[in-house]
Amino acid sequence: MTRFSAWSVFRNGLKGQRDWDRQWRDPEPRHEYDIVIVGGGLHGLATAYYLAKNHGLKNIAVVEKGWLGGGNGGRNTTIVRSNYFMPGNRQFYEHSLELWEDLSHELNYNVMFSQRSHISLLHSPAAMDAAARRYNTMRLTGSDGEIWDLNTLKANVPHLNYSADARFPIIGAAVQKRAGTARHDAVAWGYARAADSLGVDILQNCEVTGTTREDGRITALETSRGTIRAKKVGFAVAGNTTRLWQMAGFSTLPIESHKLQAFVSEPLKPLLDQVVVFGVGGAHFYISQSDKGGMVFGGDIDWYKSYAQRGNLPIVQDVAECAVSILPCLGRVRLLRHWSGVMDMSMDGSPFICKTPLSNLYLNAGWNYGGFKASPASGWYFADLIANDRPHQHIEHFTLDRFDRGINIDERGAGPDPKLHG
Ligand SMILES: Cc1cc2nc3c(=O)[nH]c(=O)nc-3n(C[C@H](O)[C@H](O)[C@H](O)COP(=O)(O)OP(=O)(O)OC[C@H]3O[C@@H](n4cnc5c(N)ncnc54)[C@H](O)[C@@H]3O)c2cc1C
Repeated sequence: MTRFSAWSVFRNGLKGQRDWDRQWRDPEPRHEYDIVIVGGGLHGLATAYYLAKNHGLKNIAVVEKGWLGGGNGGRNTTIVRSNYFMPGNRQFYEHSLELWEDLSHELNYNVMFSQRSHISLLHSPAAMDAAARRYNTMRLTGSDGEIWDLNTLKANVPHLNYSADARFPIIGAAVQKRAGTARHDAVAWGYARAADSLGVDILQNCEVTGTTREDGRITALETSRGTIRAKKVGFAVAGNTTRLWQMAGFSTLPIESHKLQAFVSEPLKPLLDQVVVFGVGGAHFYISQSDKGGMVFGGDIDWYKSYAQRGNLPIVQDVAECAVSILPCLGRVRLLRHWSGVMDMSMDGSPFICKTPLSNLYLNAGWNYGGFKASPASGWYFADLIANDRPHQHIEHFTLDRFDRGINIDERGAGPDPKLHG
């Protein structure tokens, strides 16, 4: 495969762009693999890449029922941050952010990671105090964070609604400057290309429809492209986790599938140079501006469970209200597109990267709203788990039995209802 470089761009320019290779192969499924990762989203692709890269493993396949990035990986609002508070979460997400910072070089693919700052608006002295506690803890444990007063915020983000008559007047902000956005499709393509170059077979249009189990193990996957035998299997199917779980012979999981919508406006001239989050009094809203000028924004999940990849109109209204209340200048801007993805919402808003009751089946799920930022570390630690058959200490609480063991990694302390973890 051609390595991307200034020289290869120049050389191919002289040759009429005829010498570029396919980004990844399109192989026929083999009869058997050592490791099969189900789900060609960001987490599945990253896992396959790190299995090959970090652990030197061969004979790996990623099976994807549709096309790469057709799931949540290519549907999100692309926010990357590591402003977590709870022990375990902090180390995990900070590691993820560090991987993001070098990802374009690591994959030899421009994922357009833009560290443009993540700004959480604050609306009361109590919120300022809580943010100071959280961001001080982040700083003390190796991450970055700042608290801005109103004047600093106004100087940096001039177009927000600073009216003292607003329902929730803004009084400051919590800021992580190393946070930002990335191009989600490029992340999927970059991991796929890099994994393929290390020998991973990426099998698109290959839906897992059932499993064969013997002696507490999965021995084969039934797929739309035939039976594939596997020595180890990893599930990384986000909103479809409960379906795959049933195919593996289990009943319930502490996960519900909900829809989350994303919205893009018509392109505008440069307006917003950061990611801004507005969350108070029931409002939940986040917005940034894409490189093409569209305002990219989103809000809460739709309030019912579904596997459909489309959302409902009340949330459109809800999100539009948040948009104009925080950025009134958007009032006459037209919405260009909106779509939805199926979220794997867990009962405590936290993920699972863990072993399962089947000895060769590993689970990666429960990413809620936050799996995009997590994808490099998720792949890194899931690969480590599958390769070594034991959890790394940073994911030791990302287990299915944490509810029985009373382990609290719930970042928001919101309680056992997925709807509260938006
Ligand atoms: C609208 C929206 C906005 C979001 N915004 C953010 C954000 O700003 N920041 C952030 O950090 N996170 C965000 N997220 C969450 C993030 O996108 C997800 O948590 C993350 O992408 C999930 O991991 P994934 O990419 O591997 O999932 P997916 O891309 O969904 O991958 C799972 C794959 O499994 C495949 N699959 C399912 N069933 C089968 C089967 N039976 N056989 C084979 N393949 C199968 C699917 O086709 C899919 O491609 C957002 C999500 C949405 C929907």
